[in-house]
Amino acid sequence: MSSNLSIGGLTPFTTLDFPDHLAAVIFCQGCPWHCNYCHNPHFLDFHKKPTLSWQQIDSFLQRRQGLLDAVIFSGGEPTLQKGLLEAILRVRDLGFKVALHTAGIHSNSLAKLLPYIDWVGFDIKAPFARYATITGVQNSGEQPKKSAKLILESGIAYEFRTTVHPQLLDEKTLLELATALADLGVQRYVLQDCRTALCLDTALPSFSYNSVLNNKNLLQAIRTLMPQTIVR
Ligand code: SF4
Repeated sequence: MSSNLSIGGLTPFTTLDFPDHLAAVIFCQGCPWHCNYCHNPHFLDFHKKPTLSWQQIDSFLQRRQGLLDAVIFSGGEPTLQKGLLEAILRVRDLGFKVALHTAGIHSNSLAKLLPYIDWVGFDIKAPFARYATITGVQNSGEQPKKSAKLILESGIAYEFRTTVHPQLLDEKTLLELATALADLGVQRYVLQDCRTALCLDTALPSFSYNSVLNNKNLLQAIRTLMPQTIVR
C-alpha cells in the first residue's frame, strides 16, 4: 500500500494547518526548488531515506480514527509523489478529510488529485514570470500558473498564500502579484511574514519589522483587489 510514497516526517497533531480541523501532517520527501526561505530544507532531497514507512503511518491513522478530522499532505512537494493518490484514497477510506499543501509544481498530477481533496493551501511565490528569483529554478512559474487555474476551476476550498520577505518581494512586485491573482479570480489570500530562523538560505537577513506587510496603503490596495486578504 502506497509504497511509492516517500515520507520524511509526521506531525501527529495540529490545529493550524487546515482551518477549523484537527489534523495530522504527513511530510513528503523531495522538492526540486530551493526557495530561500524554505523552512523544511531537510525534506528537499529526493534521495534521502524515508524516515517512516506507509505501514507505520497507516497504523498511526487507525489509532487516530475518531480523534482527528483530517490528514494534510505537505512536504517537500507532495504532487511529485507517485504514491500520493493511493495514499489519499486510503486516508479517505479511514474516514479522514484530506488537505494538500502544495506549490503546484506538477499540474497534471494535481488535476488527478483534486477530486479527492477537501482543501488546498497553495503557496504562491511571486508573479509567475519571476518565480526563479525565489525558487532558483528557471521557468518555475509555468506549472504553478496552471495549478492555480485548476484549483480555482475545481471549486474546492482553498487558501492562496504568499510569504513576504522585503528583500525578495518588494511592494511593487507584491501588488503586481496580487493583481494577477485577482485577475485569476482568487478570493481567499493570505500574506505571511517571513521567518528566517532555520530557513534554507542561511544568508537571508532577518528583520524585526516587515516594511512590506506594514505598508497600510499597499494592504488597502490588495484588499481592494481581494477583500478577504489577511496577514499572519
Ligand atoms: S516549494 Fe520551496 S518552500 Fe516549498 S518545499 Fe520546495 S523549496 Fe521548500
